[in-house]
Amino acid sequence: MPLPDLTATLKINEIFFSIQGESTFAGRPCVFVRLTACDLRCTYCDTAYAFYEGIKRTIADILGEVRSHNCPLVEVTGGEPLLQPNVHPLMQALCDEGNTVLIETSGAHNIGQIDPRVRRIMDLKCPDSGESHRNLTENLPLLNHQDEVKFVVGSEKDYVWARDQIRRGGWSKRVNAVLISPVFGKITPLDLATWILADNLEVRMQLQMHKLIWDPNKRGV
Ligand code: SF4
Repeated sequence: MPLPDLTATLKINEIFFSIQGESTFAGRPCVFVRLTACDLRCTYCDTAYAFYEGIKRTIADILGEVRSHNCPLVEVTGGEPLLQPNVHPLMQALCDEGNTVLIETSGAHNIGQIDPRVRRIMDLKCPDSGESHRNLTENLPLLNHQDEVKFVVGSEKDYVWARDQIRRGGWSKRVNAVLISPVFGKITPLDLATWILADNLEVRMQLQMHKLIWDPNKRGV
């Protein structure tokens, strides 16, 4: 693999140090690199400020800020990070520096070009998101035992849809974790837990930990 061009630029919304809130890495300190722009408009989106706001920064500059936090866990997120092609040299450089690198993606764009060292956390959008038609079916066979698939559930109808996808796709055996979480403020954690237990569904239920620790509307956490 050629060395990444550190002068390449990306539009960055924010870089911040927080607690990873929703994956098998939840609870760990993590540096987040949030890229600007998303082509989806999920009904429950809590990062609409990342649709347009941001400044162009070089990969060298981004690496410098990530390094300043002295934390080996880095998550590349958005928005939708795969909309900017230079996300690939950025992730390569982050891996080359010895970090554990996560990417959170909507699942609407091809994940096949992502550096194999990166842990992919990919959404399968449920119907209430309004964007389930954007789930890219070509991504499904690309997922492996290092990856995590995430369902964000806004209603019982969403839950049933997710459950059927999980069972039909055999996801609990195919990936590192099947994550399922309630849309914040839409259904209660108790609702979701009750449905999961009634079905004995093989998933990892998640709450967005950062929203429990800080004000749910606070940015940069
Ligand atoms: S994919 Fe993520 S960033 Fe984009 S609209 Fe949906 S929730 Fe918001």
